[in-house]
Amino acid sequence: MSGEQELGITESKEHSTGEWYAEVVQKAELADYAPMGGFIVTRPRGYAVWERIQDHLDGWFKDTGVDNAYFPMFIPESYLEREKDIVEGFDPEVAWVTHGGYEELEERLAVRPTSESIITPFIADWVRSHRDLPMRLNQWCSVVRWEATETKPFFRTKEFLWQEGHTAHADEDGAWDETMTRLDQYERLYEDVMAMPALKGRKPEHDKFPGAHTTTTIETLMPDGKSVQAATSHYLGTSFAEAFDITYADEDEEEQTAHTTSWGLSWRSMGALIMLHSDDQGLVLPPTLAPTQVVIVPIWQEDNKDEVLEYAADAAAELDEAGIRVNLDDRDNRNPGFKYNEWELKGVPLRVEVGPNEVEDDELTLVHRPDGENSVESRDDIAATVSEHLDTVYAKLYASAEETLEGEIREADSREEILGTIGQHGGYVKSGWCGDEDCEEPIKDALAAEIVMVPLDRGEEPIHDDCAICGDEAEETAYWAKTY
Ligand SMILES: [Zn+2]
Repeated sequence: MSGEQELGITESKEHSTGEWYAEVVQKAELADYAPMGGFIVTRPRGYAVWERIQDHLDGWFKDTGVDNAYFPMFIPESYLEREKDIVEGFDPEVAWVTHGGYEELEERLAVRPTSESIITPFIADWVRSHRDLPMRLNQWCSVVRWEATETKPFFRTKEFLWQEGHTAHADEDGAWDETMTRLDQYERLYEDVMAMPALKGRKPEHDKFPGAHTTTTIETLMPDGKSVQAATSHYLGTSFAEAFDITYADEDEEEQTAHTTSWGLSWRSMGALIMLHSDDQGLVLPPTLAPTQVVIVPIWQEDNKDEVLEYAADAAAELDEAGIRVNLDDRDNRNPGFKYNEWELKGVPLRVEVGPNEVEDDELTLVHRPDGENSVESRDDIAATVSEHLDTVYAKLYASAEETLEGEIREADSREEILGTIGQHGGYVKSGWCGDEDCEEPIKDALAAEIVMVPLDRGEEPIHDDCAICGDEAEETAYWAKTY
């Protein structure tokens, strides 16, 4: 019994969310803490989820004209300095290499905090004429940002995995379309693969990516009422093209400056996925991303062991053949109850139970991970039946996440009301806002809540005429929330 206690989750999602999250990540074998503060080791079950996220996005990128490439992880200091906003934006977080072996380097090398400064000069080199545009590059890599904060696996780590896309276009229209294409693909990932409803918006001017013209964002709401910035897509205007000299000859042989974009999604998406769906029994994953979609647990006595196992193995083979990721747990040294707990903890979306009754009636018992709902199904056509159940599990997760978001977007028209509403309910609060960063301060100071986004469309009328903080004319609708 003590083994089962150690295996299970002891913290409560509702009452100690942070500790619960850390326990789920470790006990579901997604990640461990590295010996250096701020770093984690991603274990195979965690990496498998990341690989599936990669597979989906990478396929969509390639279908829409993006090529993968790889650039060095080190960036010469002089390159980093060529775009002043990048330097100012990232300087406090940059890790530097000063020595190679015993030799001091002539020029310090930055460990990339993001790769605009090393990729853009090459795009400048490779683009000659309008026929070279658009140029779309993406790389899957890790970046390092030396933030001195408490480690939270997948949410806050000094090194994190991500993809960064970098593109150059002939004009603003092309670059803006690109920015939106990627934002839509991120939204699709959340909605169709991760079972997470998402909000699309734009970051306020003072919170844009350094040097960007416009930063667009996907925000998702966690059950504790905090918002997660889940992906960003930036229209960079011509600032990077000017700094790195991306020019091209147009159809009249006139020299023009290109417009660029960059866009990224990190493993923070995994953190949000785990945080949103999982429960006090452990990890919950949508079938789309689960390394194991179905576990078959045979339940036997000595006198029927052979036939139960054979029946279970037969069903497993049929599911495997249909492309379903199935695991037959026929371990001798664990009882069925222990196996149920273990696979619940590890987030397998569907459990199939096979005992003597199932064998005799030519049936299988299917149990959904998120809510324990079970049903007895015919053995015939089992692959199709299991696929339907996996779809149902996905739909349940999405519906529950939608419920988390629904009713969590409120309105307020004074500082006190913003503070009171977020303080009491969490979630998002919409208010009129003058556009001045100073008006964010009183809310930030009092509650650590901030403006996470404004509407994507710059022309949209603000919900109130006046700024909820200073009373001046409102320019935008601000969405306030606490954040991860
Ligand atoms: Zn104001």
